Amino acid sequence: MMCDLCGVREAEIYQAHSRKRLCKECFLNDILARVEKEAKKQNLLNANKILIAVSGGKDSLVLADTLSKIVNPNRIVAFNIVEGIKGYNREDQVRELSNYLKELGIDLISTSFEKSVGYTLDQMVKSSSQRGLNVAACTFCGGFRRKLINGAGREVNADFVSTGHNLDDEVQTIIINLLRGDVKKLLRIGDSQPKLSEKFVMRVKPLRKVYEWETTMYAYFKGFHFQEVECPYISAKPTMRAKVRDLLYALEERSPGALLQILENFDSLAESIRKGTKLGSLPSCKLCGEPTSFGREYCKNCELLISSGLIFADRT
Ligand SMILES: [Zn+2]
Ligand SMILES: [Zn+2]
Repeated sequence: MMCDLCGVREAEIYQAHSRKRLCKECFLNDILARVEKEAKKQNLLNANKILIAVSGGKDSLVLADTLSKIVNPNRIVAFNIVEGIKGYNREDQVRELSNYLKELGIDLISTSFEKSVGYTLDQMVKSSSQRGLNVAACTFCGGFRRKLINGAGREVNADFVSTGHNLDDEVQTIIINLLRGDVKKLLRIGDSQPKLSEKFVMRVKPLRKVYEWETTMYAYFKGFHFQEVECPYISAKPTMRAKVRDLLYALEERSPGALLQILENFDSLAESIRKGTKLGSLPSCKLCGEPTSFGREYCKNCELLISSGLIFADRT
């Protein structure tokens, strides 16, 4: 069977949402074109500096690879965080990542939770469960990653911080916030986010229109060596995200293209709601000074450390 696009090479992949059979080259070009379209929409093409968060996982490699073909690599800085998860964070993996980035011409800076927060993720999780708290590791991890990525972006004077979130991640986040009824969080997702604090570097997700299976195939075709070990905390406590993910898989299987449709509809809906909504400026955390949600005194990260007994706050 020949490729539906070029008609000269053997098709290797069936892209369900477009109902096309594609050869390897046309598939890779299709992904690159979609990332470029999204990057353009998010204003990345004129950026002086973009900080990209890289974990060594496949999505971060796909992000670095595609973005370095769209933006001059010397305007990109990669940022890696070692969470401190026993058996998961490995030195050879960071070395592999750093070699590949060097090939692309991208500088890499690194930190760890231990260095920047004072505790490894394992320590945070242990301390909170010793206090009988029912907090998923992903709650600690996600919150601190966001904070450190934003801080690093500020430090290198980046116009944007970019993460490798794909279409599946993005739609999961939308559904989770819908289920929680969190409108303000919902309005911060999208291809043109409002800037709610001077301390925030604009966050962009160039892969947000690319399916997870597509980033996997892209990584496979390119021969990337990526972190394949699943984080040990994933199976420990199934989060809301895991449940939503399974629901969305079932939906996509029944009607291919559903996720893409949801995201596109959401983007235009969010855009029109944002026009009529004044969101104001976010308050600052009384402890660390970083922006926090409306109505909060401390940020979620400091709250977590306080309730886990890892830092102390005067709460009188
Ligand atoms: Zn082709
Ligand atoms: Zn704080």
